[in-house]
Amino acid sequence: MGYEVDIHDLKFQLFDWLPAEDLLGAEKFADWDMENVEMVIDEAVRIAREELGPTNEDGDRIGSHWEDGRVTVPESFKSAYQTVREGGWVGCVSSPEYGGLGLPDLVGAAVNELFAGANLSFSLSSLLTRGTAHLIENFGTDELKATYCERLISGEWTGTMCLTEPQAGSDVGASTSKAEPQDDGSYLISGEKIFITYGEHDMTDNIVHAVLARTPDAPAGTRGLSLFAVPKFRVAADGALGEPNDVYCAGVEHKLGIHGSPTCSIIFGREGACQGFLLGEEGQGMRQMFQMMNSARLEVGLQAAAVAGAAQQAALAYAKERLQMRHWTGGPGQVPIVEHPDVRRMLLSSSAYVQAMRALLLRTAYYIDMAHVAEGEERERYQALVELLTPVCKAWCSDWGFRVTEWCLQVFGGYGYTRDYPAEQYLRDNKIASIYEGTNGIQALDFVARKLPARGGQAVREVLGAAAATAKELAGDDQLGGSARLLGEAVAQIGAILEQVPKRDDGRLIVVLNAVPMLDSFGTLLGAHFLLEQASMASGRLAELLAEKGVDPADARELLESNEDAAFLHNKVQSAMHFCYRALPSVTAQSVAILAGEKTAMEAVF
Ligand SMILES: Cc1cc2nc3c(=O)[nH]c(=O)nc-3n(C[C@H](O)[C@H](O)[C@H](O)COP(=O)(O)OP(=O)(O)OC[C@H]3O[C@@H](n4cnc5c(N)ncnc54)[C@H](O)[C@@H]3O)c2cc1C
Repeated sequence: MGYEVDIHDLKFQLFDWLPAEDLLGAEKFADWDMENVEMVIDEAVRIAREELGPTNEDGDRIGSHWEDGRVTVPESFKSAYQTVREGGWVGCVSSPEYGGLGLPDLVGAAVNELFAGANLSFSLSSLLTRGTAHLIENFGTDELKATYCERLISGEWTGTMCLTEPQAGSDVGASTSKAEPQDDGSYLISGEKIFITYGEHDMTDNIVHAVLARTPDAPAGTRGLSLFAVPKFRVAADGALGEPNDVYCAGVEHKLGIHGSPTCSIIFGREGACQGFLLGEEGQGMRQMFQMMNSARLEVGLQAAAVAGAAQQAALAYAKERLQMRHWTGGPGQVPIVEHPDVRRMLLSSSAYVQAMRALLLRTAYYIDMAHVAEGEERERYQALVELLTPVCKAWCSDWGFRVTEWCLQVFGGYGYTRDYPAEQYLRDNKIASIYEGTNGIQALDFVARKLPARGGQAVREVLGAAAATAKELAGDDQLGGSARLLGEAVAQIGAILEQVPKRDDGRLIVVLNAVPMLDSFGTLLGAHFLLEQASMASGRLAELLAEKGVDPADARELLESNEDAAFLHNKVQSAMHFCYRALPSVTAQSVAILAGEKTAMEAVF
């Protein structure tokens, strides 16, 4: 069973729902127009289906292996890497100054969904490489930029992000890795980092690590951390690869999923000879690293949505083929399981959540682009929206992306539990998204403590106001009215939480205790809002299509079953309604507990 994606939905969201064409009118994207962007997406779909998808099982079954400090990845990853590298995909959104394609983040997000859905383990190396290159581009000296940026963005070398240490996971400020300044302006790096994705591998000749370390006399906590570029092999002035830089891989983790992605323990300076180069200023490392982490958080959300989307497509294909039991209305013989109401419920819930995740992620990517091309207050406004939505993209999509893979496995029945089908790999692979790049618990704390109150709550007011306006606009719609009213209620409930909880004596505890439910409610509200906007658009188009064909809407079943566009538009409306009725009430459920100040978890004795 190969990789499949709902390309119809991806293109609808990219090109119809979001104003991609207007974005391409900005000077920054002058090299791109709608036609060549569509060609980029079509080519990315081809690569995902034909070149990356077939390597996904190798990643899982063969995995990555450590021996004597060296790590090997499956052979098929190496040829896939050449394809991705030669196509310029590693730097598809990177700056053309260093050889990147300079595509909008919106298009990059769609490409990332395709590649991560086809092979999550494999796609991680490009994510990290792009991030390392951007850090050097933004904070490196001219010499560092000249040495590393082009070689990373072209994919000749790969990059990593090195924060985690055995005692410093969520608590990055507890890091103890050291950086001693040297007379030549470089630093001697020492310490052990763990869980480093693609920290060592055999796909490229060199690896550039972005490492957080502490200079002598630096203050405790994150304020004392500085950021360094640390190559695996030193690079001579003429760009030639020099001697090894005392970076040793001590092993790889044996994990639940993403077996193809090596998760490495890296010892820097085992022999006291690891040279690192400061990026920016001392003590600014955490702030700088956040630049990489913020885009990585959006990408982790994308990964989860992508794998969930792949699982949904696989489950749908299986449900159309697998015959079991009679039709629920009776009749002779077995029918495909897609006819059974419970299977249909699981399939539509999965599809609706995937569409909602995609909408949230693409809309946020669009805001990132607007924050680059807009000016003055508008730029500030988009930046505030990006900051508010980043933890929601990461945590909401990874929590629900994982649940979708579980529903999809269920559709396969017993076969889903076996290795005969990819459902179990999707489930195992997708679990990581709620853990790395800052666990979802930490994302939620960031959301409630920093992002909601930021700028006097301006961004959250804008988001809630827009959802309320959509609810009001559609409240009288024959088909979407009931869903829109549920959206309106959810807006009111979140508004009540934001207004009432801070006034309580135990408000601070209620906020931290409910950080995850609050983020979850907010993500659900955004998903419903965006799906309703899309449904309203789809419903208008469907009406036009039926009128064109001279088909009465009350008698359209035959056309829906034979016309792909009509079926897509119809399902778009059904998915939005399904999501509003099935997911939005969870906001009410959470608000009951939050507004009542329920805190038994703190009273329980553990
Ligand atoms: C496959 C994989 C790849 C990774 N890749 C990288 C990489 O490339 N680079 C890198 O630097 N790191 C990487 N990591 C590390 C990853 O980011 C950390 O595992 C993660 O940040 C959590 O840290 P921890 O494992 O120490 O968990 P802990 O920090 O010990 O957390 C354990 C639990 O406690 C919760 N918790 C902790 N503190 C709080 C709090 N204040 N309030 C509420 N809950 C809290 C957490 O949410 C979590 O549920 C990777 C990890 C894995 C498994």
